[in-house]
Amino acid sequence: MAQFTTLYSGSSGNSAVIEEDGSYLLVDIGKSCRKTMQALDALDLAPNRLQGILITHEHIDHVSGLKVFLKKNRVPVYASPATLDMLAAQDRLPTGAQLRPVDGSVQEAGGFGVQGFATSHDAIDCHGYRITTPKGKTMAIATDLGYLSETVHTALSGASLVALESNYDPFMLRTGPYPYALKVRIAGRRGHLSNDECAGKVLELIQEGCEKFCLCHLSHENNTPAHALGTVKNLLAAAGVRPGEGGIVQAAKREEISDWMEF
Ligand SMILES: [Zn+2]
Ligand SMILES: [Zn+2]
Repeated sequence: MAQFTTLYSGSSGNSAVIEEDGSYLLVDIGKSCRKTMQALDALDLAPNRLQGILITHEHIDHVSGLKVFLKKNRVPVYASPATLDMLAAQDRLPTGAQLRPVDGSVQEAGGFGVQGFATSHDAIDCHGYRITTPKGKTMAIATDLGYLSETVHTALSGASLVALESNYDPFMLRTGPYPYALKVRIAGRRGHLSNDECAGKVLELIQEGCEKFCLCHLSHENNTPAHALGTVKNLLAAAGVRPGEGGIVQAAKREEISDWMEF
């Protein structure tokens, strides 16, 4: 059985788990090593079964705990070459870290297949990942992206589970407390994805066979789980798509471990 969850998700820290038969990958470590290790322990995930850490980009909410974690756990780090260079320049990697540059091809990572794809964000070379488990289940994760390119669509399409950013409600962002320049950045082509953009893609992907979705990286100031989930559900209802029994969409929790989603 393959499953996905997030240890925490949002602008104060992101980390996701893809697990099958006790073996797992992490995507990002955006809170402290201690907080991350506590969450893994709470899920009964043994540190020695971690096969690798995939890094999307160098922003602090994705790499905060990376260096300390790597000192305690010798596991390979997967990221684009430019991101690895940036992490080194920012002193986010301990000496002797096992670095695995990702290109567009499928790479083996402890039995998992890992394929990076570019996303549009104001980082050096932001990536999402499409991951195939040892038993052949496929999921894809894309957070921190200003818009949904064809490249991203291709990477998400056909995956059994998609973890997709649903960062902000446009009305809340427009009328909220952020300075104007920050609002422009978030809504821009190299910023974050709105609930509406996320919902539109969820509908498209359902029509192409995707079954489950985890809405990730919700903004604390400009969004709520009810807004994000409501936007998806309203759009699906308008399109006449009925979510399956038990629901097919969940919003990742900001500070806590979310429920496992099987795929
Ligand atoms: Zn970012
Ligand atoms: Zn982020």
